[in-house]
Amino acid sequence: MEICQIYETGYDDRCLLYIHLKIRFFMIKKDNILIGCHVSISGGFFKAIDEGIEIGCTAIQIFTKSNRQWKAKAIIDDDIQALTEQKKNSNISLIVAHASYLINLGSITPEVQEKSYIALIDEIKRCQKLGIPYLVLHPGTAELSNKKETIKRTGQYINQALQATSDCSTTVLIETMAGQGKSIGSIFEEIASMIDQVENKKRIGVCFDTCHAFVAGYDISTKNSYEETFQHFDQIIGLHYLKMFHINDSKKERGSHVDRHEDIGKGTIGLQGFTFIMNDPRFIDIPKILETPVTENEIKDHQRNLQTLLSLLA
Ligand code: FE
Ligand code: FE
Ligand code: ZN
Repeated sequence: MEICQIYETGYDDRCLLYIHLKIRFFMIKKDNILIGCHVSISGGFFKAIDEGIEIGCTAIQIFTKSNRQWKAKAIIDDDIQALTEQKKNSNISLIVAHASYLINLGSITPEVQEKSYIALIDEIKRCQKLGIPYLVLHPGTAELSNKKETIKRTGQYINQALQATSDCSTTVLIETMAGQGKSIGSIFEEIASMIDQVENKKRIGVCFDTCHAFVAGYDISTKNSYEETFQHFDQIIGLHYLKMFHINDSKKERGSHVDRHEDIGKGTIGLQGFTFIMNDPRFIDIPKILETPVTENEIKDHQRNLQTLLSLLA
């Protein structure tokens, strides 16, 4: 009926796209979906693959270095070889990286600004070496300075870092943030402003963190609010920039700006919101990474959340 309606109004292209998406949607098997968790590299990069296999991931996220230190151990050929070999013998077809939490490109302290810029370039190069296509970045905080200026400066630094690594293909993904304090990137308009500063649009994108977006005020828990949120995202940023999801439920209320992740279905977003994402034909190919809380039984915790997500597939 929907197809006929589109035909009657003469939108042939839209109709073909619709049929294409529908067919792909029905053909999709659970094994083809890029889904997994943030895993540890302690003991070596290949260890992350081991953990991913044990959990049952088809995609994993790692830090390529300690996330709370500026310094990083150089990546040697043996690291790359072990990782590549281990990945080949697994169901994991995608590795993505998360950049250090220390990076704050818009900092008012020149030393932090400089260190952040150098660190971002280094992280991009590390990803390139490891064959990682996406690097997720927290855009940072305005500290005591003006938010608008900070957003502009951050975008300019991302642009410069991409230019300084023009021989690399790794794409930087700006993460949607919770909006705690004066952090930037919790509002779609702020992310769009940063993207505006970037010349090579092929190497910039967005990672939509469900918990962060929800506490920032974007509701995805009901059908209407879910549609509105992504319609708004499309209008302000453009859905073609959406390259990854961080899938987390939230302990805190919508609009609270407090970032506390919760198990899928046990938080304020609830199972329905995740059912929409998992079954949205627009997002079938988009990697989905869990960052849900873990206890000492990390593998079990991850497995449980992964199973919950997969069970939502229609
Ligand atoms: Fe993050
Ligand atoms: Fe996240
Ligand atoms: Zn978070």
